[in-house]
Amino acid sequence: MEIYDGGADASQAEQQAELQVEGVPEFAEIPEEVHAPLPVAELHLHIEGTLEPELIFALAERNGITLPYADLDELRARYEFTDLQSFLDLYYANMAVLRTEQDFADMTRAYLTRAAAAGVRHAEIMMDPQAHLSRGVSLETCVNGVASVLAGSEQEFGISTLLIAAFLRDLSEESALEVLEQLLAVNAPIVGIGLDSAEAGNPPSKFERLFARAKDAGLRRTAHAGEEGPPSYIIEALELLDVERLDHGIRCMEDSELVERLVTEHMPLTVCPLSNVRLRAVDTLAEHPLAGMLAAGLNVSVNSDDPAYFGGYVDDNFAQLKSVIGLSEFDCVRLAANSIRSSFASEERKTELLAELAASGR
Ligand SMILES: [Zn+2]
Repeated sequence: MEIYDGGADASQAEQQAELQVEGVPEFAEIPEEVHAPLPVAELHLHIEGTLEPELIFALAERNGITLPYADLDELRARYEFTDLQSFLDLYYANMAVLRTEQDFADMTRAYLTRAAAAGVRHAEIMMDPQAHLSRGVSLETCVNGVASVLAGSEQEFGISTLLIAAFLRDLSEESALEVLEQLLAVNAPIVGIGLDSAEAGNPPSKFERLFARAKDAGLRRTAHAGEEGPPSYIIEALELLDVERLDHGIRCMEDSELVERLVTEHMPLTVCPLSNVRLRAVDTLAEHPLAGMLAAGLNVSVNSDDPAYFGGYVDDNFAQLKSVIGLSEFDCVRLAANSIRSSFASEERKTELLAELAASGR
């Protein structure tokens, strides 16, 4: 398997050229509505969740697959979810169109194109190898398809990238361990592991050995916890899995002692507001706990999770938060800085992105 090095350094010459474009108005002269999006890091993103309906139909046609939907409208009509499981059912069904390395590469390229427009400058992308292995798609096919595009992402899209192998918590720990060993054996270009899929009834404690093995292998560790699951799942993820980041974590707000601990530890929480609304983890965006989390001093960032399914990318999340909960420009900058600092990027890259954020004039 080809080794992917996390993305080459951006071309400084290209950056200089962009800075020297003549005739560009000063930032302050640009009306608010056309301000470029803030430079952010996206830390909670499932690449399979970026599969837009149009691409699903295009890949199905290319692979000679008959979809159970007559047209785009019929597929879109299925995007009304009642809970996490109702989304997961469609999410796994749609993966059937991903067969070849080219399919995975096309999906990844489509995400990076859209993410670049959303202001994403660094992305840590999760993929679910088990969801593909179970369909008879090899590890090489899915990993190489994604990694081949990530290898050139900084040059092609201005986005540095890292790949995270996420494990499906509704499957056994044995299955996860087996796949992790396969990834390690082929030197797969992953920076770390994650834990996703159906949370309720599948507590972090089920994956203690998996996370210990990943730590031994020098991998970074993150896990979904406290999305639908109770605050105790967050505590388990911290204490039993030794995670460095929590995905979602919004239910920590039900436990003030836990909030205090997370604040003290500066534990990053990758919050996904539009996802939480679509999956009914919160009733409406107006009631989303993000503002309270910021006020409590939690290290939160804003992410899109599965943007093709949840009504938007990172910029859409920010735009809706601004209009619905009145998120201030100051808080947006704070969220962007949190996302950069909470990433697994090199210190050098983080410094570069924080400088870019500071220079954005907000
Ligand atoms: Zn997620």
